Amino acid sequence: MPVRPSDKEEEYFLRLEIEKKKQAEAEKLARINEEEKEKLKETHFMCCPKCGHKLIEINYSEILVDKCSNCDGIWLDAGEIEHVSKLGESKMEKLFRIFGK
Ligand SMILES: [Zn+2]
Repeated sequence: MPVRPSDKEEEYFLRLEIEKKKQAEAEKLARINEEEKEKLKETHFMCCPKCGHKLIEINYSEILVDKCSNCDGIWLDAGEIEHVSKLGESKMEKLFRIFGK
């Protein structure tokens, strides 16, 4: 029977994976010049990272939720997931009803 890692172990390895991937992306980004960075931003700003269609920004309870106009994916800016986690139960349920598929 497989041994299931504890929540703390799982969290530790996920954080490690995130840090490794962030480091790899930072190294990649350091190799491209400013002009290319601006071009990338212009090309991809407010576009869905999964399908490339435009994101629609909706303000819900002071959280700017970006919803894809095509695939219905939901995106949050840095720090917004902490705001979502602090919503009360009824606001959280409303959030899922509004943005769920
Ligand atoms: Zn999409």
